[in-house]
Amino acid sequence: MNKLIAGNWKMNGSLAANEALLTALAAGLAAPARAEVAVCVPAPYLAQVAALKARLPALATLELGAQDVSSQASGAYTGEVSAAMLKDFGARFAIVGHSERRQYHGESDALVADKAKQALAHGITPIVCVGETLAEREAGQTVEVVKRQLAAVIHANGHCISEIVVAYEPVWAIGTGKTATPEQAQEVHAVLRAQLKAATPQADRVKILYGGSMNAGNAATLLAQPDIDGGLIGGASLKAPDFLSIIAAAAR
Ligand code: PEP
Repeated sequence: MNKLIAGNWKMNGSLAANEALLTALAAGLAAPARAEVAVCVPAPYLAQVAALKARLPALATLELGAQDVSSQASGAYTGEVSAAMLKDFGARFAIVGHSERRQYHGESDALVADKAKQALAHGITPIVCVGETLAEREAGQTVEVVKRQLAAVIHANGHCISEIVVAYEPVWAIGTGKTATPEQAQEVHAVLRAQLKAATPQADRVKILYGGSMNAGNAATLLAQPDIDGGLIGGASLKAPDFLSIIAAAAR
């Protein structure tokens, strides 16, 4: 299966900066890549990125993603953005349960599971983030934590579970420059794969991405691990040459 490289722009960008970044990406993406590539952008910029995709042929295969989605379908939920709205603007993916949302917005496992459910109900692939904090890793709780986080999503989504993407993102590696070693990452990915296998006969088609300071220098060895099917890239996705190098490593 082709690997998936998804950029997470987080709360960065502007009309001018997005256009410059995507124009630079288009120049590097001119040859068809053997990897799936997506950018998960702040919701207000979905329309701009969709328009740039229509204008720049090299971006035709670039997939569009959001960074969050409401757990509710519609109604009196001020500030929320529904899955149907994301779909209207061409989103193919939505990140759910990013550790920054779990940490700063108090998102629970159950809420994350409901967000994944809303996404799936609207034909959007949720990129479900799981990962342990440094304290949890040091206490030997990594497996317990990631399994608990994924179990909530499996429980709420039943047979649709083969439609999700999982991202293992150790919290201590996000934006810190500290990356899990390929062995540490593979160990957790294998646990997640086994958990998916127990839930669906189609577990092998679920992409499990690694995220946490993946960059041009470390991408190839991480992506060479048997259960690492791609990357969720924060900081390095904002620099076209770095993001393109990671895509090239995934397309090998
Ligand atoms: C992320 O935000 O999902 C992420 C992995 O960030 P970074 O690559 O900057 O660590």
